[in-house]
Amino acid sequence: MSPTKIDLKRDEKLQITWADGAVTTYSLAVLRKNCPCAECRTKREAEPKKKILLPILTGDHSKPVTIASAEMVGSYAIQLAWTDGHSSGIYSFAYLRELAGRIEPSAA
Ligand SMILES: [Zn+2]
Repeated sequence: MSPTKIDLKRDEKLQITWADGAVTTYSLAVLRKNCPCAECRTKREAEPKKKILLPILTGDHSKPVTIASAEMVGSYAIQLAWTDGHSSGIYSFAYLRELAGRIEPSAA
């Protein structure tokens, strides 16, 4: 599944229009929370289950983290660099499509 249109609002959301006509929208919070890099995956897996029910956000939230830049990786993924310097997350379109199914079950 590949996108036909990628619309990124760096301080708000990412919207993808897919080849089958589906449109999926990801808030920056969702994208960051589901960052696919090894570091974030390890962190998520290490979290006790109860934190999923009652998320406790850590870190400095005095200013919101937004996307500093985005770059296509070949034709299969998009790499997002965040304003806090985190830039190792490469979001493959397959992953984003799968993620959409999790955050918007009705659209899956
Ligand atoms: Zn990450």
